[in-house]
Amino acid sequence: MPAPLSGGCLCGAIRYTVSVSITELRACHCRDCQKSTGGAGTVNAVIPSAAMQIAKGTPKRYSVTADSGRTLHRFFCGDCGSPLFSRRETTPENTALRIGTLDDSSGMKITANIWTRSARPWAYIDPASQQFPGQPDAPAKK
Ligand SMILES: [Zn+2]
Ligand SMILES: [Zn+2]
Repeated sequence: MPAPLSGGCLCGAIRYTVSVSITELRACHCRDCQKSTGGAGTVNAVIPSAAMQIAKGTPKRYSVTADSGRTLHRFFCGDCGSPLFSRRETTPENTALRIGTLDDSSGMKITANIWTRSARPWAYIDPASQQFPGQPDAPAKK
């Protein structure tokens, strides 16, 4: 989809715009994403945080130590609970936007699946996509 894009939470209390075009998506199958969505995980567009403007409302923030060991801030609507986006403590300049909150996400494709080792048996993973058992860019474990 060409920019600008618009989206928001289920109840409409939070609205945002995105000033970059989005084509490639990354699905995360980590347990935290499963818990936070109540589904197979999250589907995200990784965009520069500066390209996203909150047009209405203030998302609530829940911070958690992710499976990667890093602190992840998860932003959501405090009224209806919709997950909206997340940002790492160490790289706040990047935003993982929950793509289901866009008003129109046609023309986009999941090109990578991460944390496939914790994917549920009923989650669909396109065999043509890149697949990573964990975090593809995680810091090296000692
Ligand atoms: Zn809401
Ligand atoms: Zn995840």
